[in-house]
Amino acid sequence: MASAHKRLPMPASPVTAAPEAGAALRGPTVWALPEPRRDLDPEQIFAAGLRHHAVANTAYPIAHRKTIWHLRRDRPEHAALIKQSFEEAGRICLYLHVPFCERRCAFCEYTVVERHDPDAEALYFDALEAELASYLALLDATKLELAGLDIGGGTPALVDPKRLGRLLDRVRGAFRLAPGFGISVETTPKVAAERPEHIAALRSLGIERISMGLQMANPRLLRLYGRDLNDVTFNGRAVAAIRRAGFARFNIDVMYGFARQGLDELSATLEHTVALDPEVITLYRMRYKGTRLQRERHDISLERVVEMLESAHGYLNAHGYLAPPGKNGYSRVAGDPGTSVYLTERVVRSTPYLGLGLGAQTFGNNLLGYNLGAASKRLDEYVAAARDGELPLQDLYLLTRDEGMAKMAAVSFYFGAIEGRTFEQRFGVPLAARYPREVAFAIERGLMAWRGDALALTEAGARCFNGVVALFYSDRVKQHLLERKP
Ligand code: SF4
Repeated sequence: MASAHKRLPMPASPVTAAPEAGAALRGPTVWALPEPRRDLDPEQIFAAGLRHHAVANTAYPIAHRKTIWHLRRDRPEHAALIKQSFEEAGRICLYLHVPFCERRCAFCEYTVVERHDPDAEALYFDALEAELASYLALLDATKLELAGLDIGGGTPALVDPKRLGRLLDRVRGAFRLAPGFGISVETTPKVAAERPEHIAALRSLGIERISMGLQMANPRLLRLYGRDLNDVTFNGRAVAAIRRAGFARFNIDVMYGFARQGLDELSATLEHTVALDPEVITLYRMRYKGTRLQRERHDISLERVVEMLESAHGYLNAHGYLAPPGKNGYSRVAGDPGTSVYLTERVVRSTPYLGLGLGAQTFGNNLLGYNLGAASKRLDEYVAAARDGELPLQDLYLLTRDEGMAKMAAVSFYFGAIEGRTFEQRFGVPLAARYPREVAFAIERGLMAWRGDALALTEAGARCFNGVVALFYSDRVKQHLLERKP
């Protein structure tokens, strides 16, 4: 890469979150049968990750039908597998998906429906409540401590907050809440600006963090990507509503890596965002897969993406927003990683999470599930199954230990580091013993280094993020990357 010799500015004081000292984690006891390991060359895997940088990232695994389809379990087994996995874990997180948006943005990769009206909303929330009730009937919630809850979307701030309030009451009434339990919610600038009463109501429900998807502040790009509903003029009013409501943990999402985005446009967006003074700014790289811009993925080089990231990283550091190498959330609050409790738990402790709602993902270290709608985006299928009292799962995979480790490692790269102690406690093997060649390769090349107990990206490693993350994939997914066509 042309930019491989440049240096990223180092944060003055890296912002990290460590697992609670002495808190022992449990790993699952049930796994799919192990598969023979192939001794794949880390050099080649690293190169394949860079070559396929549009897909080699934290969204693991890749190409389910080719890589993990054989691990799919039949519907009659789902309930027992979930009960065992989550009750064994003892401490879990929840994710609630609210798929409604006013209009689908061209770059959106999420499970979103554009039909939003009071009837669809009512039907959907009935289904969410039914799904929660099915899980509460299945799991002994008294054995479970709830660490964090994210309400994502879509645009959850768009819906009637009373509906969310009813769900949160059910959740709080059912689970023991862990010390430090926190809830995060998402909004768009337009919704926050036009519905300040929703923002105030969300805060009064005890939601402590809010994330606003600003993405870009350039009228040209907003028009180009079908996002002009969220005109920049909403942003100031949106922030005023968020602060008036009393949110003190406020994140703004910004996107980079678009084929048709100028560096000057990214700089203008960051300048605008910093002026709005959030506690956290999260940089999301455009991921083309599953979006309306899929065909543009070859129109931007990795060098260009890295150039954008370096430019953004430098600007944010200079304005007091810090992150260790490879972490995409930049916090200006010392000691606060800025992420939701849910995401911090997922990354730092590999805490299992149950995903509720259309297309939501569930992960239990040994289980990976996707709700109905993940592929079809059809609300009716999910609603019908949930209201019939079924677990509305589209697919549930019982993972091999290798696949569980790979998923945990890939998610860890949200923070740019794999926590060694967490890894060993969840999987019963030290990180360096499971990946001896990969760890040696990453350290010798200066891509990673031990930071205490964590194996962390260096600045050079952060620039080659997609190659490094691929080193920790399972052999099946690595083989797929090696054989994958451009
Ligand atoms: S507002 Fe966010 S979730 Fe909704 S369509 Fe746009 S990018 Fe997707």
